[in-house]
Order: sequence, then structure tokens, then C-alpha cells
Amino acid sequence: MKLAELKGFAPDQGIKILENQELKEYTTFRVGGPADLFAEPKDPEELRDLLVLCRQNSLPYYILGHGSNILFTDKGYRGMIIFLGENFGYIEKMGNDLRVGAGALLKDVTDFALERELEGIVFACGIPGSLGGAIYMNAGAYGGEMKEVVHQVKVMDRNGSIKYYTGEEMEFGYRTSRIQDTGEIILEATLRLRPGKIMEMKERTADLTQKREEKQPLDMASAGSTFKRPEGYFAGKLIMDAGLSGYACGDAAVSTKHCGFVINKGSATFADIMALVEHIQRTVEEKFGVKMQPEIRIVGER
Ligand SMILES: Cc1cc2nc3c(=O)[nH]c(=O)nc-3n(C[C@H](O)[C@H](O)[C@H](O)COP(=O)(O)OP(=O)(O)OC[C@H]3O[C@@H](n4cnc5c(N)ncnc54)[C@H](O)[C@@H]3O)c2cc1C
Repeated sequence: MKLAELKGFAPDQGIKILENQELKEYTTFRVGGPADLFAEPKDPEELRDLLVLCRQNSLPYYILGHGSNILFTDKGYRGMIIFLGENFGYIEKMGNDLRVGAGALLKDVTDFALERELEGIVFACGIPGSLGGAIYMNAGAYGGEMKEVVHQVKVMDRNGSIKYYTGEEMEFGYRTSRIQDTGEIILEATLRLRPGKIMEMKERTADLTQKREEKQPLDMASAGSTFKRPEGYFAGKLIMDAGLSGYACGDAAVSTKHCGFVINKGSATFADIMALVEHIQRTVEEKFGVKMQPEIRIVGER
């Protein structure tokens, strides 16, 4: 749908909606065609107005955070991409809790907590996502996961109503949360931390950063671990043992540094990445009888 066809939208309302934004610019995989419509709301009220517009026009929408776990198709998205970025990027300290907007980057949250000597979220220091995406995915690393620190989450449902969930009500599991079923939009969360020892936290941050730099292809475009960890196995090891290190389809390749990462060597297309993902799934299943499920979210018109 074109902007001019959008019923109920007046450009002088103040809401900025863009047309044909290339989604590859908004993802760490650097893949993805145009979104028909693209909006970055400035606050929850504007977000609600966008949801009303989508409903009035029977227009699908999709929430985008930092784009570090999404593979968009080359044809892009037919509907509206709603990007929660800097406008939702606030971080505030309240005692030992942090009130954090969905658009805040985990790196900024972990730096903020470190500076205030608050312990509990160091594990997330190298995860390149937003708070909203991390809660949606229950992101985790090095023995920690969001589940452990999320005390309360404020969401907006499709009708624009605000709700609050406790950490328990979020039904966190391995790389899942209830939001994956409800389609609600995470606006902000309260993270419950505890006083920590600054030197220990600094050391652990440096240690985890070094581990990532040594083991992960951080200089290449990717969406992190392409597959979920199959129970009882490590995805990267299965892929390596299947002889697929460095295996490529076009410009999409299995990283030789960490076989769990599919990387974009420059101009990989959606088709290249999917051909590689399917080849990995087939080969690993044939060799080891293990089914690999993608961790990355695949979105857009096929
Ligand atoms: C180099 C690299 C390393 C990584 N390492 C890790 C790791 O160690 N551990 C790990 O768990 N992940 C890792 N990831 C994956 C990724 O960073 C995480 O999944 C991250 O939490 C995704 O956040 P995002 O803001 O980028 O989400 P996006 O990719 O923008 O979105 C992911 C999903 O969340 C939804 N979403 C985003 N924001 C909201 C919101 N406000 N409300 C509702 N839904 C929302 C989107 O619709 C989408 O379905 C890595 C990725 C890269 C590129």
C-alpha cells in the first residue's frame, strides 16, 4: 500500500511515515528489500495512532528493534514496519531497579548498570540488540538470560491498551516469551538488579568481550546464532562436524570462526541465506538425525 492510499492519514498530523525504506539498512544481516511503509513513533501515543491507522486500513505491521535477529526477504515487507529506536531509548535508575525503554540498546543498559555498580546483567554486554528484542527473544549468553532480571514489562496490545506483566507472567523459555504468541508490543521494562562490586563486574565484562571477539565473526554481517541450540547438542559443533565450515551459497557462508553463524560476505541475498540454512538443516539431519530450528526470525514477502 502506498502512503497516498492510507485512509485516515493526514501528513500534517505530525506523524512521519516513509515509503520504500530498504530494510537491509536496519538489520545486522544487511539483507532485506523495501518496506511499503516505515514509521518510527516518537512516543506511545504516536505508536497507538499508527496501530489505529493499520487497523483502519487492514494493514499488517511488524515491530523492529535493532534488527539483530531478523532476516528480511529481498522483496521486503508489504505493510508497515514500526521501528522502536532512540525515542524509546531511555534508561533510568530507581533504587536497584532500572526502568528501560524498549529501544535502549543492551550495550547502553549494561554500561549504565556498570557505572552505577548494579550487578545482574553483565552477561548481556555483547548482545547487539535492543531491550524490546531481547525480552521478546529472552536473549541470553554465558549462563545468563533476560528472564533472570526482568521484573515487570509494560506492553501495548493491538488495540492500543496498556498492560503490565510480571517477569513470571512473561512465560520466558529458551529464546521465547509470551509476546511471541500475543503479538503485543513491549514499551518498557523494569529490570531488577543488585549492588555489585565494580572491579569484578569490569573484569567479567572484559572477559566476556574477549571471548566473543575470539570466537565470533563480529567483523562480518550476521544475525548471530542462526539456529537454536538443539537439546543436548551445540548447533555450531554439529555444523562443523557435518563438514560445513566455510560452506557457501552465493555470498552466504558458514563462518569458519564460529560454525553456528551464517554470515553475509557482502551481497548475500535472502535466497542465498535460505539455500544455505536448508542445506545445513538437511545435512545435519542426515548425518546426526538432529533437526535444527532457526533462531532468526524470517519476515517479509516470499
Ligand atoms: C553478532 C551477534 C551476536 C549475538 N549474540 C547473541 C547472544 O549471545 N545471545 C542471544 O540471545 N542473541 C544474540 N544475538 C541475536 C540478537 O542480538 C538478540 O536476539 C537480540 O535480543 C535481538 O534484539 P533486536 O532489538 O535486534 O531485535 P530485532 O532483531 O529487531 O527483533 C527480534 C524479534 O523481536 C521482536 N521485537 C523487537 N522489539 C520488540 C518490541 N519492542 N516489542 C515486541 N516485539 C519486539 C521483533 O518483532 C522480532 O520478532 C546476536 C546477534 C548478533 C548479530
